[in-house]
Amino acid sequence: MAVRLAKYEDWARACMHVRCGFCRENCCSYRQFKFDSYSAKGRLTLMYHWLKGNLRPDSTMAQRVFSCTSCGLCDIACGYPQSEAIQEMKTALLEANVLPPEDYMVISRRTRETGNPYAEDSSQASNLLRAISKSGTGPAEFTLFFGCTELFRSPKQLDYVTNILRAAKASFYVFPQNICCGSPARRIGDIEQARAQAELVSAAFESSGPRDIVVSCSGCYRTFTKDYASLTDQAPAFSTKHTVQLIDTLIAENRLVLGSLSKRITYHDPCHLGRHCGVYDEPRRILKAIPGVELVEMEWNRKISRCCGAGGGMKVGRPQDAAEIASCRVQEAKEAGASVLVTACPFCVRNLSDGARLIGSDIEIKTIEFLVSELVGIAGRPRKK
Ligand code: SF4
Ligand code: SF4
Repeated sequence: MAVRLAKYEDWARACMHVRCGFCRENCCSYRQFKFDSYSAKGRLTLMYHWLKGNLRPDSTMAQRVFSCTSCGLCDIACGYPQSEAIQEMKTALLEANVLPPEDYMVISRRTRETGNPYAEDSSQASNLLRAISKSGTGPAEFTLFFGCTELFRSPKQLDYVTNILRAAKASFYVFPQNICCGSPARRIGDIEQARAQAELVSAAFESSGPRDIVVSCSGCYRTFTKDYASLTDQAPAFSTKHTVQLIDTLIAENRLVLGSLSKRITYHDPCHLGRHCGVYDEPRRILKAIPGVELVEMEWNRKISRCCGAGGGMKVGRPQDAAEIASCRVQEAKEAGASVLVTACPFCVRNLSDGARLIGSDIEIKTIEFLVSELVGIAGRPRKK
């Protein structure tokens, strides 16, 4: 514990002394649970006293720490990377064998035993992937990697992405195996399981040759681009794009022509894609390229976007709280005057949809790939250069 957390001690001490509390206002777990110990400040205070030997870690401490969604909004409010410190605290608690009362560890257990956090049959997913024919016969322009949420909870996402590429006459190859990228294990602090997944994925990519990967899950994107280097102790031998980056390029190259849609749409920045990876402009450019669409922003957008509440294992460990947090985000979208809430992560869509059901909202919630795939089949007017 001491080695893993020692580098955060100065930050924790400074935080306790300044007592500013800027991190609290939009921390989704603080807003949900209303105790200081559920904010970055509270968690850093717990860490400090654990490091100093004033507190012994127990299940109450673990409950506070594991209910952090890893959204990173406190990093922006504070200026220190507090979400990284809290994620390391999760790992330190696991190493000390201190677990929260909620069963977050089911995520790791299932990944270890079945290959995915949903405990579904990975071989069936691999069959589904092999059934999507490779486009064309020559070398493919893009290699599509579909993650566990797409395969087991949102399989239509595969059709949306491939339909878009077919409409753009872009050749693609679908990576034919279901291997969890390791994101769910990483966010609950299980660095060993995350490393095991990173090694499996890296070896599979290496043996099958793909070098340029396209993903439509923001969790996969962040994990490949930000976590794999430290998990495997070397820079990944492949590059990763999110589908929003690819679609944005295809539109700019006039390879995709979008039909019109007369709707007021708002965009939810997935924390993994926005705050953690800095991808804000591409999805907005795509929405602005749709004739008839009025893009409206929620009050909290881009780097200060509020979290949907699903991350860090919350969707499994505390599903009711995750949905209640999502309902606040849905409410914000309604207040912006949007009739459609679009995002770039199938996992966010699932939680936002649960949040909308909770408050009886009729707002349409969909991935940006779903929206674009509905419009590429329609004869749209060509974009002017
Ligand atoms: S904003 Fe930063 S320094 Fe201020 S209370 Fe929050 S974590 Fe501590
Ligand atoms: S990462 Fe998000 S949920 Fe966790 S303490 Fe920071 S603002 Fe709160």
